[in-house]
Parts: sequence; C-alpha cells; structure tokens
Amino acid sequence: MKRWLQPIIGMSENRSEISQLGEFGLIDRISKKFSIQNPGSIKGIGDDAAVLDNGEEYTLVSTDLLAENVHFDLAYTPIHHLGFKAVSVNVSDIAAMNGKPEQIVVSLALSNRFSIEAVDSLYEGIRAACDHYGVDLVGGDTTSSRSGLIISITVIGKVKKDKIAYRSGAKPNDIICVTGDLGAAFMGLHILEREKEVFLTDPDMQPSLDKYEYLVGRQLKPVGRTDIVFELEELGLKPTSMIDISDGLASELFHIGKNSNVGVRIYEDKIPVDELTYNTAALEFKIDPVTCALNGGEDYELLFTISQEDFEKVKNHADIHMIGYVHDKPNDHTMVTKQGNVVALQAQGWDHLK
Ligand code: ADP
Ligand code: MG
Repeated sequence: MKRWLQPIIGMSENRSEISQLGEFGLIDRISKKFSIQNPGSIKGIGDDAAVLDNGEEYTLVSTDLLAENVHFDLAYTPIHHLGFKAVSVNVSDIAAMNGKPEQIVVSLALSNRFSIEAVDSLYEGIRAACDHYGVDLVGGDTTSSRSGLIISITVIGKVKKDKIAYRSGAKPNDIICVTGDLGAAFMGLHILEREKEVFLTDPDMQPSLDKYEYLVGRQLKPVGRTDIVFELEELGLKPTSMIDISDGLASELFHIGKNSNVGVRIYEDKIPVDELTYNTAALEFKIDPVTCALNGGEDYELLFTISQEDFEKVKNHADIHMIGYVHDKPNDHTMVTKQGNVVALQAQGWDHLK
C-alpha cells in the first residue's frame, strides 16, 4: 500500500468502521459539520426532501441511489422494472412532504456488460414512471462503472407553503395513519431469493412465481403514493407530520418520534397486512407477518399523523388505516399486541452499511 493512499481510506491508526455508526449515525455525523448559509434553504438534511424557498411555493429536492447487488439483483430484476422503481422511490419522498413531483434527473454508471437494448429497457421503465407520475426527465449524467450498475435519480417537486408536511410536526393525541398494506415487498424479496437459490441448484427448474405475483410486484415495481397527496387535498386534510415507509414502519415511527419530540403507541391488530403476505410469511417462511410490516422495508407507503379533529375525514377511506396515536413521552415507542400486552418497538429497518 502506497503511503499517500492511507489517509484517504483511513488505513492509519485512527481508522473507525462505518458500520459502528450505521446509515443514520453517519448522516447525523455529516449533517453536524454543515450549517445553512442561505435563507432560501428552509430545510436541509434530515427529512424526506430538502425544502427550498422559491418565493411563491417551496421547491422540494430529494435523491436516491440504487447500486447493483446492494439494492437490486439483476438475476431476477427485469431492467425496465428497475427503471420504474428508481423513479418511484424518489417521487415517494416528495409525496412524503405532501408535495407533487415535477422533474427528475437520472445519472447512470454502466459497465460494458450492458447492451444498448438493456439501456433502452431501463429507460422504458423510467418513461413509464414519468407518464405514471406526470414528471419530466430533464437531464442527468452517464459514466462507466467497473462494478455493476449504479442508478441515481434526483427528483424536484413543489408544495404550497401552507401544505408542507415535515417529520417534525406530530403532536400529542394526533392519530397515526398508514396507507396501503405493509410487508409485501419484504416477502416478495424472500420469494425471489428463494427461487434464485432453486434455480442456481437446478437450472432446469423454472421459478413458479404466479401465485406470488402481488408480493413480487411490490418488490420489483413499487408505486409511490403520489395519489394520496391529491386525495388529502380533496379531503381538505393536512397531515401534521409525514414520512414514506422505505425502511419499515418501526424505523419510520422512530423518525417521526425523534423529529417531533413525541412518543408513539400503535396497535398490532390495526397494522394493515395483506392476506397473501400474512400466509406466505407465517406458513411458508415461519416469520411473524407483523415483523415483516414493522421491520421489512421498501413498502413506499405513507405514514402520517393527523389531528383528532380530522378523524371524520379519513375514517371511511378504504386505503388509509389508523394504527395508533401520538403521546407526550419522547422515546417511549410501544405496540399493544393482539393479546393486549404492551411491548417496546424495535427499529431495525434496513441498513445497507451494516
Ligand atoms: P429517505 O429514506 O427518505 O430517502 P435518507 O434516510 O436516505 O432518507 O436520508 C435522510 C436525510 O439525510 C435526507 O435529508 C437526506 O438528504 C440526507 N442525506 C443522506 N445521505 C446524505 C449524504 N451522504 N450527505 C448529505 N446528506 C445526506
Ligand atoms: Mg423517505
């Protein structure tokens, strides 16, 4: 090892492992070293998207990077689905601010393993997502890679100033709501990994995924809940806080709790879990389905809090589920089990750095 390389990768006696900090610890460490210098930077690091003052409204900016063999496995990921997913995970963060996505920029690092047809296919998925979410592809960057495909997308959106929902606005007695159902993408990943193993052992065995279409679809081609932002607007409802569920319900509840300086209590029997997710987890993989919902990930549903007075507005909504409430004891995050026991929530989440 040449000596001049040592300080760069930390080979000296001061080396500390990133895994000690984890992803959130690392982000905290970075953010402490920077302060905001422009009055237009309303919210920097620490929410689903950055918030910039553009006069009339707020501009929202968020970025997400997907790396081959960390976030996706091309053995079972159709590349056009990957294109769609890369956009979905980004627009989801704009929805989490109660905003509307408008533009994306797409950056790619490609190895010579990828053909023109593969890139075409990737962009077919990106275009389908642009149509679905009504966003415009307005730029990006392309470079080569020596270690697989990397796709980074930045999304730009807008929100009216009085409509913005931060992670920090939850108040004691607020009702906790989630959209859709949880844990399906995590089970989809289990199915895909299982079928990959079967295929590797015996390449003549064709994977049988038909029965699991919903779960696999939730993993490979998630849809960000930009529709909910429109529906909340129609209901005349502004969430007091909001976050998207990318790392599992428990982890996101901890973020809301920490940023709002409150505690949460949820009820196990209120957590929405689809029947196929439930049966596949419990019967085939012997995993507690609620653990999939709490600590799985990649659901890309929305978790938000509303004032008690807005209860009537959501109570009959088929896709919004009330799962608990906010209270005034920070760091006290609990779940009431189906048997009526109170247990502490554990925020495991996904941590790609561990
Ligand atoms: P999400 O799961 O909603 O995409 P993340 O957990 O990735 O959010 O990020 C949380 C916050 O930290 C965001 O404000 C994001 O912009 C910021 N962030 C993440 N990584 C970095 C980094 N390397 N440098 C600066 N800010 C970062
Ligand atoms: Mg997010």
